[in-house]
Amino acid sequence: MAVPVVADPTGDSMPGAELSAFAHQSMELLARRDPELYRLLVADLRRQTDTLMLVAASSVADPSVLACEGTALMNVTGEGYPGARFHAGCGVVDDIERLAVDRAKTIFGARYANVQPHSGSSANLCALFALLSPGDTILGLDLDSGGHLTHGSAASVTGRYFNSVAYEVDEQGLIDYDGVRAAAERHHPKVLICGASAYPRVIDFARLREIADEIGAYLLADISHIAGLVAAGVHPSPIDHAHITTTSTYKQLYGPRGGLILLGKDANAPSPGGKGTLEQLMQRAVFPLAQGTPNMAAIAAKARAFAMVGTEDFRNLARLIAHDARTLAEELAARGFRVLTGGTDTHMVLLDLQAQGMSGLVAERALEECLIVTNKNRIPGDTRPARITSGLRLGTNTVAMRGMRAPEMRSCADLVRRVLDATDPLTDTDYALDPAVRGVVADTIRDHCRSFPLPGYPSR
Ligand SMILES: *Cc1c(COP(=O)(O)O)cnc(C)c1O
Repeated sequence: MAVPVVADPTGDSMPGAELSAFAHQSMELLARRDPELYRLLVADLRRQTDTLMLVAASSVADPSVLACEGTALMNVTGEGYPGARFHAGCGVVDDIERLAVDRAKTIFGARYANVQPHSGSSANLCALFALLSPGDTILGLDLDSGGHLTHGSAASVTGRYFNSVAYEVDEQGLIDYDGVRAAAERHHPKVLICGASAYPRVIDFARLREIADEIGAYLLADISHIAGLVAAGVHPSPIDHAHITTTSTYKQLYGPRGGLILLGKDANAPSPGGKGTLEQLMQRAVFPLAQGTPNMAAIAAKARAFAMVGTEDFRNLARLIAHDARTLAEELAARGFRVLTGGTDTHMVLLDLQAQGMSGLVAERALEECLIVTNKNRIPGDTRPARITSGLRLGTNTVAMRGMRAPEMRSCADLVRRVLDATDPLTDTDYALDPAVRGVVADTIRDHCRSFPLPGYPSR
């Protein structure tokens, strides 16, 4: 294979070409030395390029983001922060981390950013463990209402170490803000958590901040699912409403696996007990409180992803994500599906499959056989367990990245309907799928994937 020549911005062609050739050789080395693993990597690349990815908690990173993760930055041990490391040899990674921090602050209009959390969950744990003592009360959105495990679920350390109480959605599936206020007044949490993993509507951060202020709580906004819409101005920003904002970087920021902590106008607000500011608290919260060394390759990949999020192209993508989701929701509803909340304001569409007499698990599996990748999801009042569920969650991050628009969303809704019509649920975990329909739908999906390739990815 030919080695691509990369022009170095300094005019010296060597450094760029050297890194590019090294990446190339590394991949060839992997293929030769570990064909078993290499084959698996190829298999998943093909799965990604040749299937319709509608998992709301995923996206596809630009190849330039993936490239950062595969560099020798992985080798750098740099406990601490730029200019204050516990190891020598960190001059370059200091510059990279500063770049990532500056770009994160720019795209979100934040005053402080910490790019070191290893994941969105880690970011939440860092924030909560720094703000609270064991046994303190937190108030978050209930898991079945769409909240995340780290917002106080009994299955999470956040439900075990803290006194966790929850608010819920109302009959329409919308956050019950009066219920939040009532729960806040009753339980006096030290932290009110908002943000969700399965909630398709706008979250009113300003209103939640009012509630937090009334009882003297900190407001933590976890925007893992909607961070791209927030950065692009398609969803209102919590940065200056919440005391602390957290997010994953691999979902709607199209970045690497990782997390991010942001502070807005409260960066200099006092931390609990009056020991310094929130900014100082968050700086200690990640290291040394909850993490050790940062992943410098991931931080470089975050810097790259944040640069892309700051572009006009990304703002257009974000608008398309929301537009596609709205179309998909309408077209699914028109085909007889019950869409939770009646629609969506974000990238996410939630279906209640109870009328179909079908579990989320069966729907997920039947669709995957036809190359449509989604995920089962518990819905409010769900009677089935988390591995079965009565709902299905869809998201448009990846189809929008492929450039799919309203006509393709109509086709997707149509294909989902055809697959589920051809699926006979024998039990909650077993089903019979008409093989003729499977063949036709899979062929149509392959055609769509060829017509709308993932930018920069191989296509067949
Ligand atoms: C996905 C998600 C997280 C967890 O992020 P990870 O990076 O996977 O740990 C946290 N909060 C919310 C709301 C999420 O949807």
